[in-house]
Amino acid sequence: MILEMRLISLFLSRKRLYYFFGGGIEIVKEQNILTKLAQIGNRLDPTGAISFPVYHSSTFAHPELGKSTGYDYSRSANPTRKVLEDSLAALEGGCKGFAFSSGLAAITTILSLFKSGDHFIVTEDLYGGTYRLFQQVFNEFGIEATFVDTTRPDQIEASICPNTKAVFCETPSNPLMKVADIRQICRLAQSHHLLTIVDNTFLSPYLQRPLQLGADIVVHSASKFIGGHNDVIAGLVAAREEHLAERLGFLQNALGAVLGPQDSWLLIRGLKTLGLRLECQQSNALRIAHWLENHPLVDQVFYPGLSAHPGYDLQLSQSSGFGAILSFSLKDHCSIPDILQKFKVISFAESLGGVESLITYPYIQTHADIPEEVRKRLGLNEYLLRISVGIEDCNDLIDDLNQALTF
Ligand SMILES: *Cc1c(COP(=O)(O)O)cnc(C)c1O
Repeated sequence: MILEMRLISLFLSRKRLYYFFGGGIEIVKEQNILTKLAQIGNRLDPTGAISFPVYHSSTFAHPELGKSTGYDYSRSANPTRKVLEDSLAALEGGCKGFAFSSGLAAITTILSLFKSGDHFIVTEDLYGGTYRLFQQVFNEFGIEATFVDTTRPDQIEASICPNTKAVFCETPSNPLMKVADIRQICRLAQSHHLLTIVDNTFLSPYLQRPLQLGADIVVHSASKFIGGHNDVIAGLVAAREEHLAERLGFLQNALGAVLGPQDSWLLIRGLKTLGLRLECQQSNALRIAHWLENHPLVDQVFYPGLSAHPGYDLQLSQSSGFGAILSFSLKDHCSIPDILQKFKVISFAESLGGVESLITYPYIQTHADIPEEVRKRLGLNEYLLRISVGIEDCNDLIDDLNQALTF
């Protein structure tokens, strides 16, 4: 039987799963991710509701003393939130999912797995709010962080101390779109008994699944691609193994930064079209990246989907796409404030991942909390802009960029 299982496992592919039933083999084809996404919440409610209902109830009656329906109080568990959490776990290939009131609430809960004296190795050009959380909040509780270029395993290895407990990485990085090798980081971390935590906000489980590449915890700002409509603030986490999931579940309830049922429903609704949105957004992004590359005012374009990008091959080896975020730097005589005023389709706003295209000025917006000398060294300077490409017609987006960059 064991030998048979081994032989069968040789035939395991991404598309097919083999199950044993009473000695026979039944072949069950795993559903495509587009099918899984569209079907989230369906066939789960006893009423037959196709759209899983919003359970606006803070508390649930006990059938009798010592018995529970599985739901007691909505901080601990809520049916709508559970559909979302289970879906994320299934999409990421984790054992359990958790929904929080924001991406930073999710990261706060993850950092609460650790204690005073613990040390982290963190991607240096990461989301500014995560940087602030490490440096201005958890630092006060004795959790230290060293910020390195996580595309360089030698820099990670050189930063490992006796009290290092985890590597926290964002790939592609924010806003410079550097691609880190998730498999290699996980191998390195495992060999030093460190956890690997990946912020997967920029690609979503539709394009990249870090847990399947060896990471222990994956976290999302679901305010971005997963919600997808610039209408909700939320965070999601999935853990690969039960012991971490158990502790995260305890902390989710103990700290209490949970996502409400209405916002959970908005994410379920958003997830249904995640694949369609990302396919459209990343094809627009690639066209815009090529267009920017040829623009006389543009100095550099940072998008891993450009074949000249140093992370292009690596990105293809660990993800199924390049995403819809790109950054570009302008030549140093350009006036960014004037340019930002001229956009008519693309909005000058923080955030990313929604159907509406947004342009951000990381130097003064998302990354203002990173010290000046660090921003300068990274190339995160006053000439850098980041676009989150939406689902609008690409010609309209290029026309808008063209008029904004014409003097
Ligand atoms: C936005 C963002 C966060 C923070 O999420 P919130 O939902 O705004 O709290 C964390 N990581 C990345 C990569 C982000 O883009």
